[in-house]
Amino acid sequence: MKLESITGQTQLEAFPGIGAARAKGLEKLGLTTAEDLLRYYPRSYEDRRVRSSIRSAPEGQPVCIPAMVAQTPQMSQIRKGLSVTKVRAVDSSGAMDVTFFNQTYVKQALIPGESYVFYGCVTGQGPRRQMSNPVFEPEGRARFTGRIMPVYPLTAGISNNRLAGIAQVCVDACAGEVEEILPPAVRRDHQLAAAEFSCRNIHFPASEQALDQARRRLIFEELFCLSAGLSLLRGRRQTAPGPVFKGGDLTPFFALLPFTLTKAQRRAIDEAAADCVSGRPMNRLVQGDVGSGKTMVAAACCFLAWQCGWQSALMAPTEILAEQHFRTLSAVLAPAGLRVGLLTGGLGAKEKRNVKAALAAGEIHLLIGTHAILSQGVEFAKLGLVVTDEQHRFGVDQRAALTAKGEHPCPPHVLVMSATPIPRTLALIIYGDLDVSVIDELPPGRTPIQTFLVGEDKRARMYNFVRAQVKAGRQVYMVCPAVEEAEEESSASLKAVTVYAGQLQSEVFPDLRVGFVHGRQRPREKEAAMAAFAAGEMDVLVSTTVIEVGVDVPNASLMIVENADRFGLSQLHQLRGRVGRGSCQSYCVLVTGSRNPESRARLKVLTQTADGFRIAEEDLKLRGPGDFFGRRQHGLPQLRLADLAGDTRVLKEAQQAAQALLRADPALDQAEHQPLRRQVQRLFTEHADIFN
Ligand code: ADP
Ligand code: MG
Repeated sequence: MKLESITGQTQLEAFPGIGAARAKGLEKLGLTTAEDLLRYYPRSYEDRRVRSSIRSAPEGQPVCIPAMVAQTPQMSQIRKGLSVTKVRAVDSSGAMDVTFFNQTYVKQALIPGESYVFYGCVTGQGPRRQMSNPVFEPEGRARFTGRIMPVYPLTAGISNNRLAGIAQVCVDACAGEVEEILPPAVRRDHQLAAAEFSCRNIHFPASEQALDQARRRLIFEELFCLSAGLSLLRGRRQTAPGPVFKGGDLTPFFALLPFTLTKAQRRAIDEAAADCVSGRPMNRLVQGDVGSGKTMVAAACCFLAWQCGWQSALMAPTEILAEQHFRTLSAVLAPAGLRVGLLTGGLGAKEKRNVKAALAAGEIHLLIGTHAILSQGVEFAKLGLVVTDEQHRFGVDQRAALTAKGEHPCPPHVLVMSATPIPRTLALIIYGDLDVSVIDELPPGRTPIQTFLVGEDKRARMYNFVRAQVKAGRQVYMVCPAVEEAEEESSASLKAVTVYAGQLQSEVFPDLRVGFVHGRQRPREKEAAMAAFAAGEMDVLVSTTVIEVGVDVPNASLMIVENADRFGLSQLHQLRGRVGRGSCQSYCVLVTGSRNPESRARLKVLTQTADGFRIAEEDLKLRGPGDFFGRRQHGLPQLRLADLAGDTRVLKEAQQAAQALLRADPALDQAEHQPLRRQVQRLFTEHADIFN
């Protein structure tokens, strides 16, 4: 294979040493072409630059030792499956024994009288110096020694050396071809290394400084493209005029409410209402801890839309939540004459048809639903406002799809409600240029929830506590991680909903009313269980996290979470928000059998603070952004190098640079921005329509 014949498109399968089997393995890593490999970055590096003589090599630290093989390697079969090959190597300072286990090829590879560089740890002193399983290669033709070596994330069947070997060939052949995506002005202003340099040095760093420069540039590039893509996704609306909710008046809305709004709620409503008459589409995030009363901000906006002759849509992440919003908002808004519709996947075909027809005819003023409202055939007569609740559950693309339903006559206002206080770094990326209203105040009369962390030894006491709460007229949630026993390998110890509910009813609380709800039930069963609990016909509700978001039963005063160590902190905080919604003292008990001090310390955070932001930051620190949102739920392209939690400074820089660029060239039409445009397009392939 000639170096000149290799291009970015060359299949890795064509490389020497990569047969069909290894190509399959590489494919699992997402690697089929040379170009893929160039963008497959090392996970870490091994500094193999330290050279030493046999005598002076420090014990136990990896070093490169140039030495001559002094005799023919001797192989012996110790037992079945274990062979040992030994050879003696010498330099001017002394000699050492080099031992290889199960590497029979060594016998042919090491030729007496030839010099090699051995990279490994030396043990033993004086005449007993030795090295086991070193990396070695002929002196003077060093590829894997005497330099900083990349360590790649691997799959079975491919060694790091082999991958590094083809990476080296790819880099040599193609680094010069790598397209410069960043415009020259951006590179200059932010002092970023060139694309070719970065490609070479991220794989095979010439020095630590070179690696730092390469990394910084590539991270910047990644975040720059991400920011540019997201801005483009939202951008079109910014320039278009929005619906104008003229002549609305919220006084009658306030009169409909059974309570006085908090100052924070009023502020958020005022801000949103101002957006709605501004003539530009609203793009606002309402952030507030669980129970802060975000729903009423949405209700106010829907009311305003209705007064001004526009329809609204509210999308919730679960059916339970959609149904609850339907009940709450109907109760508040219907008396004024506003007609509310519900559309979920669980509806029958006929009901769905009716809802769709009423919607298209403009007879439904507010449609509430799950992502079912994104489906084909759901047409609004005049959509002016889109609200998404518990935003982080939806991908960027889903949000865009809903907004698209209202493109005519103009893009709708968008209001996003998030209960998870998203750490600032993530909010920056996901919401970018959204305006933010924070509801930093809970409705009056709430007593802070008391949270306890308990081990299995307290189980009996915990059950007594449940009984006491029920006796006092309260209700109890018990949350478990899995639906059915044996859903996962280690599920023997998990409290599975159905089994656990049955056991509680028959053995622990025969005199109480125990019910259950989980995600695998039919929508009707789910709703029936939730409704019974909300109506106080059930004392204890055993459930999975389907109740996690938004569900509102003010009489529930105790939340027990089984196997609490299986949940993320933010998720637990959300769950805990299901109680403490009324005026009674509420409790949250986190049960864990884990003795792992780390996971106990993690859970302890929840007993110490109710500050959702602090909890979210803690979560992000411990688990990383991927897990924070659930795997890839955020719909963002995967980042290869950048770390949203750690690279805040570069993130801000990249974001500002991307925004400045888009101000100058809003659709990336200029010739010199074409490489960037293509790269952004590639990143957002699922959203290719952002470019028309
Ligand atoms: P979240 O912000 O978690 O979505 P909700 O909007 O579900 O919170 O409100 C939580 C509970 O507080 C609901 O029962 C709601 O009726 C009630 N609530 C909202 N605002 C107020 C208020 N200003 N005064 C009293 N109760 C309120
Ligand atoms: Mg809510």
